[in-house]
Formats: sequence, structure tokens, C-alpha cells
Amino acid sequence: MSDFLQTPIEFLKGVGQARADLLKKELNIFTFENLLYFYPYRHIDRTRFYKIAELQDDLPYIQLRGKFTDLRSEKINRGQRLVANFTDGSNNLEIVWFQGAKWVKEIIKPNTEYILFGKPTIFNGKFNIVHPSIDLYNDENIKMLSALMPMYNTTEKMKQRNFESKAILKLVHTLLKDERLIIPEDLPNELISKEKLLTRGKAIHAIHFPRSADELILATERLKFEELFFLQIKILRYKVQRGKFPNGISFEHIGELFNTFYEKHLPFNLTEAQKRVIREIRVDMKSGIQMNRLLQGDVGSGKTIVALLCMLIAIDNNYQATLMAPTEILAQQHFHNLKELLTELPVSVQLLTGNTTMKERKKMLQDLESGSLNILIGTHALIESSVQYKNLGLVIIDEQHRFGVEQRSRLWQKNEKPPHVLVMTATPIPRTLAMTIYGDLDVSVIDELPAGRKPIKTVHRFESGRLAVFEFMKQELSKGRQIYIVYPLIAESEKMDYMNLQDGFESISRAFPLPQYKVSIVHGKMKPTDKDFEMARFVKGETNIMVATTVIEVGVNVPNASIMIIESAERFGLSQLHQLRGRVGRGAEQSYCILMTGNKLGNEAKTRIKTMEQSNDGFYISEVDLKLRGPGDLDGTQQSGLLDLKLADLKTDEHILQRARNCASQLLSEDYNFTQPENLPVKLWLNKQHHSKVWSRIS
Ligand code: ADP
Ligand code: MG
Repeated sequence: MSDFLQTPIEFLKGVGQARADLLKKELNIFTFENLLYFYPYRHIDRTRFYKIAELQDDLPYIQLRGKFTDLRSEKINRGQRLVANFTDGSNNLEIVWFQGAKWVKEIIKPNTEYILFGKPTIFNGKFNIVHPSIDLYNDENIKMLSALMPMYNTTEKMKQRNFESKAILKLVHTLLKDERLIIPEDLPNELISKEKLLTRGKAIHAIHFPRSADELILATERLKFEELFFLQIKILRYKVQRGKFPNGISFEHIGELFNTFYEKHLPFNLTEAQKRVIREIRVDMKSGIQMNRLLQGDVGSGKTIVALLCMLIAIDNNYQATLMAPTEILAQQHFHNLKELLTELPVSVQLLTGNTTMKERKKMLQDLESGSLNILIGTHALIESSVQYKNLGLVIIDEQHRFGVEQRSRLWQKNEKPPHVLVMTATPIPRTLAMTIYGDLDVSVIDELPAGRKPIKTVHRFESGRLAVFEFMKQELSKGRQIYIVYPLIAESEKMDYMNLQDGFESISRAFPLPQYKVSIVHGKMKPTDKDFEMARFVKGETNIMVATTVIEVGVNVPNASIMIIESAERFGLSQLHQLRGRVGRGAEQSYCILMTGNKLGNEAKTRIKTMEQSNDGFYISEVDLKLRGPGDLDGTQQSGLLDLKLADLKTDEHILQRARNCASQLLSEDYNFTQPENLPVKLWLNKQHHSKVWSRIS
């Protein structure tokens, strides 16, 4: 029976070769099944027939029933128009065409009833309808059109060939009417009744041709549920699998290094949250099951020290650890930072980046293979195939959203037994994403900032307020603080951005002249050595102001910097703004973030700026960000290829997602391999998927 669904689309009545070609090329519809799953993007309420006598101003699209009485051509300025008189017994109405006269003349017959659909407008004091949609008034058309009428997307090419939404509607109608059509169920019956869902067959019928608005809601819900349910089955199955087949390294004990460092060299007391996540990680690393954990903590919450303590546990158990950072600057900072923290301990740390000389690199790789090197820090240079470890036990990835899934999995494969993986991110993951693209990772959260931090004050200033901003900067500089000024750098207009940055640098240098003030500049076009040099000067406090592009966005830590000025702030996304702001507020001083914008702001930009002014809460900010941009835009989601959801929308369907996740989780715990007959549909669905998509191993 399911063969019928696989019938090539050209065999559907009303398709033919030309249309079949268009359907395949333009909409990827190759089979009957594809057409069935080509859902309408909305429905138009045509359940009501209006009377011409009822017409009034400001009506939306309406539907009329009546006959054409007169058809004539009229000369107008630039050509001709075709005018017909349409009557429904209550009154008359002019129908007007500026194009397609030949076609109109062919289809319009006298003494025949038609269904008309269009938007009434007033012209010369009278109502008329221009270019309405016209269909014969008969049972079939009433059923098909005078209902909640589905609207389908078509492309420009299709429109040129008169192959529009209504034509697709007719095809779907033909298919759904066919007696041979059976739409197989793919959810277990028990689940359907427990969750009060429509059956699949009913839902598919109703998503195209709902009999009521309520039925449309139920159909949509059922199909969304199904999408999210299978998404969860895939994600959770992987998670359960990891637990079922323990193949991880077990770090049996906490040893000398960890204890010595903890007791003698910790530069501050850990927050309760830091202690808690270390315990959570500790349990994972001991369990014998490979850890895949996401460590989430707002900027400045102190993830680095957690990373270090975990690495010490690995080394205590005779394993190596590696820390991967998304940028050169950040890798360096981690390196210097960790090296300093570890001065008193017999732990060797090295930095491997694209700038490492051949000679250094060779030595480093030797030490890595022999095992004499304990910790390797670096950028993506770490995942080159020439980098081989003796016994890699722990991989820490900082600011994960800059790394693609594929890049991560390459690191993951560097050992026979998979090393534990800890992914650290300051980008809070909204709940819906935590349940989806990160749904197979366990999550630890540092939800507490170190004591003594003052919330950053954020304000919005227009160009007209710049002098006052300069004055304020001078005040703060006189107290010995440092300042960041960040300019946007976006690929498409890179040249202009670069000019803005240079201009900015020059005007800042004029307003803050030597020798009293020293201004640094850092951007992506500089030689890495120059960049590092400038960065280092700022870190050491030798310069007061750092003018930069977003290269400084991630992770840089200069506690004495207390002001972040973001130029053209309207051009940044919310999470980026929050990241940038997180560069200040790291010391005990009151810090400020000043968002400079032009005078004209779109609504979305206004919302972003306002959100920043009102909140320092990364979680809240990421929820707003998700609402504004949608998950498809969030870093890292696109490449995961996981969210190609047709109907479900993570912005609005959190509720259904949660239900689907619970059901999937329960099903997996009861019948992991779907051996029960009633769970066979799920198994079949999964098998089908397996052939069409490769599922990546991490996130
Ligand atoms: P992030 O989570 O953004 O990576 P870092 O690890 O860079 O944060 O820490 C930010 C700053 O806070 C650093 O200067 C770090 O030394 C400091 N810090 C971290 N934990 C604590 C703590 N428990 N008490 C005081 N300062 C801390
Ligand atoms: Mg960090």
C-alpha cells in the first residue's frame, strides 16, 4: 500500500510532464507522498459568502456567488481594460481585468454561476473587484474552496506559468480523494490516545482541508508533536545509548595535584555554584561512561578555574587534558593564566596555535606523544591530524558556539576510548534549545557570580551625547580605569567598517592625546604578533583605551577595564552585545556599558538596546534574542542540520516540545529497541531516517 505514496508525481491526475518538472525542480516534490507533506503556509477563511449589497469600506478578501451579465473592453490611458458586470440578486458589481483578457473571455460563460474571491475596492465612488479568483459554482468547488482554503507557497517560475497556490490545492484535493490512499500511522496507538492526538491520516487531511478552525489547530498540533517527538527520540536515544554501553575512561581518584592546588594555590574561594558543578563533573568522569557535558555560566562567572580543576583530576589519573579556544587571543590568555596558576605545581602546559614555529611545534608534539606534556592549550590547530596524544582523557572546549559540530567530533576521535568532553559556554542556552540541539548533553550551570561584583550599568547614547561620554571617560580614566571601545565588523561591508574603526581610532587619539593617554588598537587585519603585542600592553595596563573590533568579544579578561563603549550598537545582535558587555564588570569597581547608536533605529534594534539597558541577566537576554531572531539564526544551530522542522517552531512550541520529550523519554525507558509490536511504527520511522541522514555524534 505504501507503494502508492511513492508513485511519481507525474502520475497524478492534473499534473502532466511540464507541471511535474516544475514540482520537482521548484518544490522538491517528486512523489505523491512529497505532495501530501507539502503543507499550506496558511488558510484563508472562505466559509462565508457575502452579498454584494453588504459591501462596505475596508473589507478584506471576500467571497461572492453570482453570474456575469456583461463583458466589455474599455480604452484607458495606456491600453485596455476588460470590465464585466457581476450580479448576485442583491446588487451589481464591476469586475475588472487589466491583463489576461483572452483567458477571461474563454472561461466566462453567461448564465453560469461562479464563485468569486477577491478584495473589493472603491473606484469612482463604486465598488469593484480587480483580478478576482474565479471558479465554477459546483459541489466539488464549494467543498474545496468555500472552506478554510489552504494557501501554498509557489515560486516565481511557477507563477509565470500560472501554476499557483490554487492549482496545488486542486492537486492535493485530488490526491486526498483517491481511494487507494492510505496514510500510515507512525506513532504508537497508546501514545495517540494518551496525548489525545489526531491520527496521522486525519491530521494530514485536516492540515490541508480543515473543516473548522478547531480542527486545523488539532491537526497542526498533532503534526508538530510528531516532528518534535522524533527529534527527541533521536537525541535521547543517543544519550541513553552512551549510558548503556559504557566505553568511557574512569578517573578513579582525586590525587595529589588537585588536592595541593585546592588547598594551597586557589587564588580565591570558589562560589557555591562552582563547587557544585565541579562535583557534577567529578561524578561523570568517574562513572566509566564518557562525559558529554555542557557547562553554562554567564560571562565572568568563573568557568576557567573549573576547567583547570577538572584538568588536574585528569592528570592525577595519568591522563592528558586539552583546552581548545576559538581565538588566538583567548588561547594565549588561557595559556598565560593557567601557567601562572600552576607555577608551583609539576604540571607542564604548552600553547599550540597557528603561530607556533615549526621547531617549537615539533618538540611539543613529541612531548605530547611521549606523555611528558600534561596540558595542551590551543586553537583549532589542536584538531589537525598530526596532533597525537599519548592518552587524552579530557577535552575542554571554551565558548563552544564558535566550533562546528564536525570540528568537535574530530577532537573526540583522538583516542581509542573517547575522552570526556566538557563544553563551556557563556551564551545561555534557551530552554527549547537545551532540549533540542544540546538535548543529548548533560548540563551544568554556574548561576552565581563571584562575590563583590557590582551589576554593570548600561546606558544608551546618541551621537549628540558623545562629548558628555568623552567627559565621563576622562573621569574614569583619572581613577586609573581602562576602557574598551568596540566597532562592528561584519563581512559584507568589511571595508567600510574598517574605515570607521580607523576614523574612530584617530578621533579617540585626538580627544585623548599623548602623553596623558595611551590608546591601543586591535583588529582582525593586523599581523598576529602586532595584535598580541597591543593586547598584552592593554592587559598589563600600559595603555588606557583599547579600540577594537569584535575580536575581543570572547573571553578576554582585564579586571581593571570598567567601561565598554559599543559603537553602532544597533548593528550587533543581542547575545553579542551581552558578550561584549561581559568584558567589563570583572573587578570590584562599578562598571559601565555605553551603547552608542545613530538616531534612526528600527523596532528590533530598539528592543535590543532596551533589553540591554534593562537586564544583566544572560538567560533573559537569550530568551529575548531567540524571540527576535529565531533559533535558525543562533550560533551553531544551522550547522547542526537538526532543526529543519517543518511546522514546529521553537519560539512558540516549547509546551509541545516538553510533552514530546517526556513521551520520547518514557518510550525509550520502556522499550529502547522498539521490540513491542505497538512501537513498530517508531522503529520503521527510525530505519527510514537512518538511510537518509547521518547523525553526528556530538550535539
Ligand atoms: P568566564 O566564566 O567568563 O570564563 P573567568 O573564568 O574568566 O570567567 O573568570 C572571570 C574573573 O573572575 C577572573 O578574573 C577570575 O579570576 C575571577 N574569578 C573566578 N572565580 C572567582 C571566585 N570564585 N571568586 C573571585 N573571583 C573569581
Ligand atoms: Mg571564559
